[in-house]
Amino acid sequence: MNKENIVCKLCPLNCKLSKEIPVGLCRVIGIKNSGLISLNNGAFEYGIHYIEELGFYHLYPGSTALYLLFPGCNLRCLFCPEWKIVMKKPAEIEEFTGIINPEKIIDIAINEKVDGIVLSCNSILNYDYIRLLIKSLSNKNLYLSAITNGVINIDYLLDIIRKIDGFLIRFFGFTIKSYSKVSIFPQGHLKALETVNRLVKMNKHVEVSYTVIRGINDSTDELNSFFTAIREISNDIPVHIRRFKPNYMMLDRTPTRNKSLVDTYKLAKKLGLNYVYIDDIFEGNEKNTYCPKDGYLLVRRIGNWVDFSLTSDKKCPACGIEIPLKGKVKRTLDRDLLTFKRS
Ligand code: SF4
Repeated sequence: MNKENIVCKLCPLNCKLSKEIPVGLCRVIGIKNSGLISLNNGAFEYGIHYIEELGFYHLYPGSTALYLLFPGCNLRCLFCPEWKIVMKKPAEIEEFTGIINPEKIIDIAINEKVDGIVLSCNSILNYDYIRLLIKSLSNKNLYLSAITNGVINIDYLLDIIRKIDGFLIRFFGFTIKSYSKVSIFPQGHLKALETVNRLVKMNKHVEVSYTVIRGINDSTDELNSFFTAIREISNDIPVHIRRFKPNYMMLDRTPTRNKSLVDTYKLAKKLGLNYVYIDDIFEGNEKNTYCPKDGYLLVRRIGNWVDFSLTSDKKCPACGIEIPLKGKVKRTLDRDLLTFKRS
């Protein structure tokens, strides 16, 4: 190997960077003075959302968070919903207006009185920025959580990972064939599963999602393998079933139908997962949290709003088992409108 080459080990793509190829496939990591740097010195503030809207159901339920989006990603999915920023080139990133440094982000979060900050799907490789953000967050009483495709080498990002309160790992299939059809890393599901495993062993809060794409990753065999693999790690991991929506370069495929989402939900429940959800529906049983022991309705969700019937120490009021919810639960629905009963 040319001694001028540096292999980036942050993710399994292991890009070889040099003077001739100064930026990795992710467009996040580059070479400078014979060392690696993360190129983004800013993030985009992408609005204030309920945490449920961003995909977490068991982390600070009912809280609000500032959502940050970063350019660049190591999977480069053909349907990326945020492709207009994610697929930008480094030179274009420099030109962006609206890029914000970590101190400013914290100021916005405090002024807007949000409870936390959520980093987008491709964010974790921006380690220089996230380190600064973590430093600015100390003693600020804000949580920090990350959505990720899970295609990372945890050992090289441990200092960041230890400081993040919760992770949502997105899966886009569970075979080499599926990942080769939608991304640039065919083994993405294997790496993402390894990430789930490692994070759970580190005692981190973990939720997972699976985007169901008709004709690509929706076969019963593939879904079976995914749910079984997650169950083997822990049947308490919240599993979110998501609708594929045509975007970016995959405009020729229809959005996932409700029936397919419901069938997928039923399969996951049948395989013994305790907390399964369909994210993209407004309300219904598939959006609520029920006690896995006695079926008692514990958290009811309508849109992105929540109400709950848990005890103050987050146990089922009927049978007393502890429900794996991290952080304070905030009621955002009018209690009088709701009734809680067994499923
Ligand atoms: S992993 Fe997420 S952010 Fe990255 S390209 Fe795929 S959908 Fe977009």
